[in-house]
Amino acid sequence: MKFVETHNHLTGWSPDARQTFDELEAISIERGLHGFAISDHHDLDVLTTEKNPWEVDVASYVETFYDRRRMPSKRSAGDKPGFLLSLELGWTPHNGAQLREVDEQYPFDYTIVAVHFYDGYDPYLHKDKIYTRDFNKLYTSTIDMIEQSARELSGSRIVAHYDYFSRYAPEEKSKMLYKHTPDSFDKLFRTMRDNEQILEINTGTIEALIRDKGYTLEEAMPDSDVLIRYRELGGRFLTVASDAHRVEQNGRYVKDTIAYLNSLGFEEFAWFEERELHYSRIVL
Ligand SMILES: [Zn+2]
Ligand SMILES: [Zn+2]
Repeated sequence: MKFVETHNHLTGWSPDARQTFDELEAISIERGLHGFAISDHHDLDVLTTEKNPWEVDVASYVETFYDRRRMPSKRSAGDKPGFLLSLELGWTPHNGAQLREVDEQYPFDYTIVAVHFYDGYDPYLHKDKIYTRDFNKLYTSTIDMIEQSARELSGSRIVAHYDYFSRYAPEEKSKMLYKHTPDSFDKLFRTMRDNEQILEINTGTIEALIRDKGYTLEEAMPDSDVLIRYRELGGRFLTVASDAHRVEQNGRYVKDTIAYLNSLGFEEFAWFEERELHYSRIVL
């Protein structure tokens, strides 16, 4: 199967990452991938007194990796997996214009739009500040923020981990469901359809729900109602991403997730090369 991992991080570029490019490439070869990408964190306006470590020096990132790219679609038999250059743009209500400029200015294969903060708070570090609201209201406002981020960064082609905030919620059954906020999901998926953006299924959430919340593998899979609605509103393609920060996270739950998505009727994965959509069929 021609599978491309679209979302990974490297040590030296993302402060929470612990794998080198060579390690990521080696494991991608071992996994028989068609391609892999790096997409380090570019989170602006993080509250810090010193230089913000979450902000990538974009010019040197591009300079370091641009020429090492290998398009998966140009691979011949026996070639190494393709290598794509991306960036994970951490959107907040204040930085849309700035991130849009980064997306337009640099020759990434594609960028990923992500929401990591709520009212300036990190859900991992400041649970007490975020998880004070009614469950449905909180999930409604996070999906609304993701919709706004997708709208403002309309050129960003992948929408990351819609269920990120469910990883850290104190509720035991925190998995995000369509029924928590149907109107907001519908609005998000319509925006994504208009912008030709692809929904990412981030297996980091699946891992967190199993490890921290006691879900079984089957229960931890993304809500089928979310995915079916995505498709009804025009979403044909998905991307499944390990979002690996360390070597051992590469491929976590990916095969199970692909089988699950296929059982719901999704038949293709997508990735982008020089901003163009490419896809291949899921083969189990
Ligand atoms: Zn992220
Ligand atoms: Zn990431």
